[in-house]
Amino acid sequence: MQRLLKHGAWLEDVSESYTTQTCSDGGALPDSRPKGVAGLGIRSWVCSQCGGVHDRDVNAAKNILNKFRSRAGHGMTNAER
Ligand SMILES: [Zn+2]
Repeated sequence: MQRLLKHGAWLEDVSESYTTQTCSDGGALPDSRPKGVAGLGIRSWVCSQCGGVHDRDVNAAKNILNKFRSRAGHGMTNAER
């Protein structure tokens, strides 16, 4: 995994592909996440990490948003302050 960090573009691809599997609340990859080919058809899943129900698309959108914010170095947008 350390090797991937040296290749920004590759890391980007890898991390983007996990946006549907990562818990948008805790940032973890819980055991109950939709994995592999079977996971592609799953619309929503119960997170074993936080106990919440994550809609696949909403969860992915939140993860992308979280990623964008951490990359920009801002915890919140001006509108949310
Ligand atoms: Zn969760």
